[in-house]
Amino acid sequence: MATTTETLKNFIDGELVSSDGESEPVLNPATGEELARAPRSTPEDVDRAVRAARRAFDGWTRTTPAQRSEALLAIANVIEENGDEIARLEALNAGKPIEAVKSDEIPVMVDNLRFFAGAARSLEGRAAGEYMEGYTSFTRREAVGVVGQITPWNYPLMMAIWKFGPALAAGNTVVLKPAETTPITTLRLAELVAEILPKGVLNVVTGPGQPTGEALINHPEVDMLALTGSVDTGKHIARTAADTLKRVHLELGGKAPVVVFDDVSLESALETIAGTGYYNAGQDCTAATRVLAAGGVYDDVVSGLAEQASGLVIGDTLSPETTLGPINSARQRERVEGFLERRPERAEIVTGGREPDRPGFYLEPTVVAGLEQDDEMIQREIFGPVITVQRFTDEQQAIDWANATRYGLASSVWTRDVGRALRVSRALRFGCVWINDHIPLVSEMPHGGFKESGYGKDLSIYSIEDYTVIKHVMANIQ
Ligand code: NAD
Repeated sequence: MATTTETLKNFIDGELVSSDGESEPVLNPATGEELARAPRSTPEDVDRAVRAARRAFDGWTRTTPAQRSEALLAIANVIEENGDEIARLEALNAGKPIEAVKSDEIPVMVDNLRFFAGAARSLEGRAAGEYMEGYTSFTRREAVGVVGQITPWNYPLMMAIWKFGPALAAGNTVVLKPAETTPITTLRLAELVAEILPKGVLNVVTGPGQPTGEALINHPEVDMLALTGSVDTGKHIARTAADTLKRVHLELGGKAPVVVFDDVSLESALETIAGTGYYNAGQDCTAATRVLAAGGVYDDVVSGLAEQASGLVIGDTLSPETTLGPINSARQRERVEGFLERRPERAEIVTGGREPDRPGFYLEPTVVAGLEQDDEMIQREIFGPVITVQRFTDEQQAIDWANATRYGLASSVWTRDVGRALRVSRALRFGCVWINDHIPLVSEMPHGGFKESGYGKDLSIYSIEDYTVIKHVMANIQ
């Protein structure tokens, strides 16, 4: 599949079904060629999926945690067993170097699902007792219901797992809409796990925000909405959800500051910073792309990052040597190039900034120096292979600048001074602070933002709790 231009089908009520709507091309970002066509699903398609999820809810939510755990473990095994096929499809459709998918993403997705499987069995209501004479009270944690989930194109399958994993663990049923440019692996996984989950528990409908996403977020039978995507879409979903008071869970990207003090071992620090800044061509909401360097190391940081950039291998995503793939779409590359074109005169493109001479949506790894705090490139998420560097004079200025954007997802501080590392990590207003590293995540720990990076946590027991509601049961025992 997916190397011919077959038309994909939605996955609804346990089977692949054709859409009533038109189809749209799905491209390989490394070549610009069509890989497949995917339905531009209509409100009727979405309605069919939501009704299937609603019908499946009572049965699924009454399964035991052990049964849900078994299902998630089985899905993890399917991903592991089909890792090569999934990695190839993800490399082709999302424009990722295949080795990165195989060695990083597949094992992480498997581990995420195994964590959710274990955690499904340890959910609890926290109180039980006699709080009023003659009555016994206890709390129950229950599933919210039918959850509409919307995923982005930067980690298509991993984000799908971060969404449906905790939702299913908690006993919800799901209708998931992948990003219109990257539907292939999510649909393929739904097909591969069709025998594991009861019909209707997990449904996948493809299509753009309008009309498909809109039909999902407006559907009266959807109880909760979860998005990983842009701030604008997140705000739109929160506003739409307010009409019916659907619960909302939002992971909206970031603008991670990387605060480098002058006492670090620069060589290894820059290797990690560039490695994580250019990882996935910078299309990562935690990417180490906003470097703040102390005056004493600023020049070395700028030249060191440029040297790291020159070591990246741009190439076909199926080649094992490739370390930098394309940007996911022509539209996103134009968006990234727009930031470079609009940069102030004082800003210097130290390296990169051009399209390499090859097909596809590639952009050279880029370092931009000479930027100031209010510049657009510092304030807005670029989401491409572009690292900016600013010079700071003291710790307080570094903290102030690091915090002075609307985002609050992830950050890092680089210093050998333990006191300073802890002081700065407390002062940074971000959902995650790394000390002397950037980007590693673990299934057990929460991932989610402060400020306009959204609310609600992915991963960890907190993500499962986010997909539950608390009920108080009070019994008259006289
Ligand atoms: P987007 O928010 O438009 O798209 C993300 C998802 O939301 C897609 O599945 C899309 O179809 C869906 N969507 C869009 N409009 C919708 C609507 N009205 N109703 C329901 N669903 C809707 O993001 P984008 O335009 O693809 O990317 C723009 C920027 O967003 C990027 O440059 C980046 O800054 C940010 N982004 C962040 C992440 C992240 O990981 N947090 C991921 C992708 C994009």
